[in-house]
Parts: sequence; structure tokens; C-alpha cells
Amino acid sequence: MRQMITCCCLSLCFVALSAISGCKPSNSPSADAVAGRCPHDIKAEKCPFCTPALIESDGFCGGHGVAEALCYQCRPYLKTAFKAKGDWCKEHEAPDSQCMTCHPELKAKIDESRGHGS
Ligand SMILES: [Zn+2]
Ligand SMILES: [Zn+2]
Ligand SMILES: [Zn+2]
Repeated sequence: MRQMITCCCLSLCFVALSAISGCKPSNSPSADAVAGRCPHDIKAEKCPFCTPALIESDGFCGGHGVAEALCYQCRPYLKTAFKAKGDWCKEHEAPDSQCMTCHPELKAKIDESRGHGS
């Protein structure tokens, strides 16, 4: 009789263990986190690539010489989007299209816009 009980206990334990390990989610829950985000991994309504109207409506960032909607310095979340697009200078931690070190002509653009101050 005692042997039966022990045996039963062991099998119960085994079932419990396998139930716990079977409980682990095999699919990553990232699908929910991605919902509401654009292909550039930021919110579509803030993404100048998915919502190009932002470039028009938000105007020009004179301080950084780019469209405000594309200004990664004013809008740090854009870094993610530029990286997703592959427009990223790893060396200088800036979007390649806005990297002043690689594109010194961008600096001249800012000086120009400052010089023309109203
Ligand atoms: Zn986007
Ligand atoms: Zn700016
Ligand atoms: Zn660079």
C-alpha cells in the first residue's frame, strides 16, 4: 500500500513539474509591443517617413539645419527610425544624412540660415 502512495506522489510531482515547464510562453510577447508602431519602430503619427506631412507642418529647425520633423537632436526618438532605415552613421552617432562630420556642407547650411535671421 505504502509503495502505491509513493508511486502516486512521484507521478503527481512529475505532472506538476512538466506543467510548470510547459507553461513558459514559447512565443515572444513582442507582437503586442509592436502594435501601433510603424515599420521604423516608432509611432507612425510621429514618423516623418510614414507621415511625410509632418515635414511640411512642423517647419524647419534653424538650430540644426534640417526639417524639424527629421531633427534627431530635437526628437531623440527619431534615432530609432533612422537606424531602422539604415540612415545611420555609427561612427558619429547621428543619421548619416545629418552627420556634420561626414557632411561638413550641412554646417554651412546652418550658418547660412542663421546669417539670414529676420
Ligand atoms: Zn515609419
Ligand atoms: Zn533641431
Ligand atoms: Zn559621420
